[in-house]
Amino acid sequence: MAVERTLSIIKPDATRRNLTGKVNAKFEDAGLRIVAQRRVQLTRGQAEAFYAVHRERPFFDSLCSSMTTGPVVVQVLEGEGAVAKNREVMGATNPEQADPGTIRKDFAESIEANSVHGSDSPENAAIEIGFFFSQVDIVG
Ligand code: GDP
Repeated sequence: MAVERTLSIIKPDATRRNLTGKVNAKFEDAGLRIVAQRRVQLTRGQAEAFYAVHRERPFFDSLCSSMTTGPVVVQVLEGEGAVAKNREVMGATNPEQADPGTIRKDFAESIEANSVHGSDSPENAAIEIGFFFSQVDIVG
């Protein structure tokens, strides 16, 4: 399987509870390497731009609000099949349906405040990485 990169965000519910290190340990234990990382406070406009694909969904406003309630940690994860592997480590969107040991099962507060974002395809990963990072920020 090819080495890939994927965009991950540790969401405000997790940074508020000081869980950045515990979330990162799950990535590293799964063989994912954090090759770029930055803590940022998203503006409303940035959250809306990032989640533009979800603009028509009923929870769009609420999602954008929750993403600006505190700092997030944006990161690039690298590894074999990193996009799918990260989705596995994250667990299902709804923490009640997430497998034991996944980030969302262990840490998420709700379907919305679910602790992490991860790109859902290599194509979207490239777009989402470009949203936050330039080439020189990523050190593999
Ligand atoms: P993901 O790829 O697993 O993050 O899930 P989606 O792409 O479907 O949704 C994006 C984000 O929107 C999720 O991570 C949640 O934070 C939020 N979300 C998804 N479904 C719901 C929902 O039914 N209600 C609310 N309030 N938020 C949701």
